[in-house]
Amino acid sequence: MTHDDTFTINPIQHVAHLPFLAYKNNRLTMDKVDLNTVANEFGTPVYVYSKQAILANYQAYVDGFSDIESQICYAVKANSNLAVLQTLAKAGAGFDLVTGGELARVLKAGGDPNKIVFSGLGKSHADIAQALQVGIACFNVESVSELYRISEVAQKMAKTAPISLRVNPDVDAKTHPYISTGLKDNKFGISHAEAIQVYKLAKTLPNLEIVGIDCHIGSQLSEVNPFIDALDKVIELICQLKTHDIYLKHIDLGGGLGVRYTDETPVNLTDFANALLPKLKTLGLKLYLEPGRSIVANAGVLLTKVDILKPTEHKNFAVVDCAMNDLIRPTLYEAVMAVIPVNLDTHADNKADNKIWDIVGAICETGDFLAKNRTLALAENDLLAITGAGAYSFSMSSNYNSRPRACETLIDNNKIHLIRERETVASLWEGEHLLG
Ligand SMILES: *Cc1c(COP(=O)(O)O)cnc(C)c1O
Repeated sequence: MTHDDTFTINPIQHVAHLPFLAYKNNRLTMDKVDLNTVANEFGTPVYVYSKQAILANYQAYVDGFSDIESQICYAVKANSNLAVLQTLAKAGAGFDLVTGGELARVLKAGGDPNKIVFSGLGKSHADIAQALQVGIACFNVESVSELYRISEVAQKMAKTAPISLRVNPDVDAKTHPYISTGLKDNKFGISHAEAIQVYKLAKTLPNLEIVGIDCHIGSQLSEVNPFIDALDKVIELICQLKTHDIYLKHIDLGGGLGVRYTDETPVNLTDFANALLPKLKTLGLKLYLEPGRSIVANAGVLLTKVDILKPTEHKNFAVVDCAMNDLIRPTLYEAVMAVIPVNLDTHADNKADNKIWDIVGAICETGDFLAKNRTLALAENDLLAITGAGAYSFSMSSNYNSRPRACETLIDNNKIHLIRERETVASLWEGEHLLG
């Protein structure tokens, strides 16, 4: 489905695919909590996450790969709220980081350094030093220059840095070009052709210990075949490395499993595990996975209120109180997300109210839309839920147009916890200075 298609999402059928959401007495609930209550108590726009759903998604990975030694490292960038990280840390999750800032967050949330893998193209000297200090499990190295840098920092600190090379297996993940990362013209990783040479170099550099190999081919993947192709390419390298007396302890296949936003049929986790397990068992190495989206996306919704209805001759616009600064996925990645009413009975008596709407924010950009061409019966002040908003949503939010960011809440055992306060306008200029 694209933004150009006109479509209707049946809210009841839609939530049937999301086990933690349900309509009770025509009101949308998350883990039995009425989402009207969340909006009334904390205002809108507000992010709402289900702790139970996050834990269930994590556990599915653990169970899927229970036949082999594995460590699931949640990709922090998908949703880095401290309470979310804490929830996963307590369940035994490790973490996949891309910055020193994310490392600090994970430590603050109680994450175990021994279960951390550090990815990312631009690790600074300070990031590397901090990671060595706390003793992370592995640096996923993305360039030759980074290899020298890690060796140098480790020497100065008299530490040994555990490293893995992120190889670029050159497989087509068949996803949106902006979230495809494993093709040879992507900026990520070390090419398959150069990998052996770079491993040999790593072996000669001081204070490095080669422990693994990793790849991450893209995000929102809906097929298992690209993962298998990547695994085959990585296994080929592992075999070649043995002939150079380089023996690895782990293989890290990254993240990337897709989720259902509207009508996608993502790979089910059991099928994913069953497709990979035979090869992994033969290999005999510890498995690391770095799922982000598939842990949190469908554990969250963004609640927003219809502010102004603006029907025009050509198009009908519903201006809502969230905008591209709160949720940039639709405009950045052309992502199509479901928008459903929180209250089903509001317009039930008047089906003729159905119109085709573009759901837009109030920001001064044509790209400021949340959804396009949706058939909905809308009135001002209606409460809407954008589903699939647990991943790459709040974590990508900004203050564009001096809009304070939304608050975040987490439902745990029928209780609503405020896990991030709504920003105030005054907080937006903290750190700015007027002249003289
Ligand atoms: C973003 C990212 C992930 C997580 O990807 P998802 O699609 O959210 O599962 C994992 N590993 C690396 C290196 C990443 O950059």
